[in-house]
Amino acid sequence: MVNAMLVLDLVERAKTVPTGATFTVALSGNEADLTAATATITGWCERTGNELVSATAHEATVRHGRAPDPLAGIDPDQLPGTRLWMYTNFDCNLACDYCCVRSSPQTERRALGVDRVAQLAAEAVEAGVKELILTGGEPFLLPDIDEVVAACATHLPTTLLTNGMLFQGHRLERLRAMDPERVTLQISLDSGTPEVHDSHRGKRSWQRAVNGIRIAHEEGFRVKVAATLPAEQIHELEPFHVFLDSIGIAREDQVIRALAHRGVSESGLELTVETLIPEVTITAEGVYWHPVAADHDDQLVTRQIFPLKNAIDQVRAEFIEYRMRADAAAAWFPCA
Ligand code: SF4
Repeated sequence: MVNAMLVLDLVERAKTVPTGATFTVALSGNEADLTAATATITGWCERTGNELVSATAHEATVRHGRAPDPLAGIDPDQLPGTRLWMYTNFDCNLACDYCCVRSSPQTERRALGVDRVAQLAAEAVEAGVKELILTGGEPFLLPDIDEVVAACATHLPTTLLTNGMLFQGHRLERLRAMDPERVTLQISLDSGTPEVHDSHRGKRSWQRAVNGIRIAHEEGFRVKVAATLPAEQIHELEPFHVFLDSIGIAREDQVIRALAHRGVSESGLELTVETLIPEVTITAEGVYWHPVAADHDDQLVTRQIFPLKNAIDQVRAEFIEYRMRADAAAAWFPCA
């Protein structure tokens, strides 16, 4: 039976809070009374577009209006768990002065290893991941990088990030062992002329990266170019696009991003778990919020890599929590 006093209480309390916020109504009585009261509240919520959040022996918590979809407005490609990033290793032949994960020839390898990569790739399919992205460090330093890539590409389309400087000798053979139908290469190149790129990444690195792009094209790979552009070089954006056009990089494959204040970089954007849309990232040490901070404890989600689905669920749940907290803050702190 509908409890009229309870319904009146619900109507009055709902008027006292903004849409999206919660309010409580007191409950009392024996188990049968509480069951009836909960049914009344549930029915009222369904009819009026509100939401029963929880009920105890003493009170029910109700949201005024429905909770907004915390993932609304996010590009489907960016939904947490759509892409899976894996750090194959952390050592690198370069030591760029803004490397977000502090890679260099002296950095410990910390390889994920082909067995774990293979298990992650298999579990990724089950977890609904659509694309695998392998990064480092420089993945072509690994003697088994072709096996690591094959372990991914048999399951899902795979993108391999590299500085493109090592495509010669046995490493070129490893590149040739990869399937251009399933593997995209993403090569780092920061400018249309050597000066800027070399000033951050080392002498002759620009020319070797451009050669790497040419070789990758000759081997039949789709090549994306990823550039890090400090704010003071923003005026060079359009000439850089024109240069990339001239070497055969499609506009949609020209990935230009701002400098992040992470790793060894002394300036750039401050990126935190509150400001980043997560990209689930696995390293030998654990699961991280985003590849830009895969070397930083503040973005370590869990040290448990397996099962992968649990890790993805945890990242997604934490992201939803951040979004809902941000929405609640917006509702409760009107400025005028
Ligand atoms: S930015 Fe890339 S190429 Fe440069 S040191 Fe880091 S991992 Fe190596």
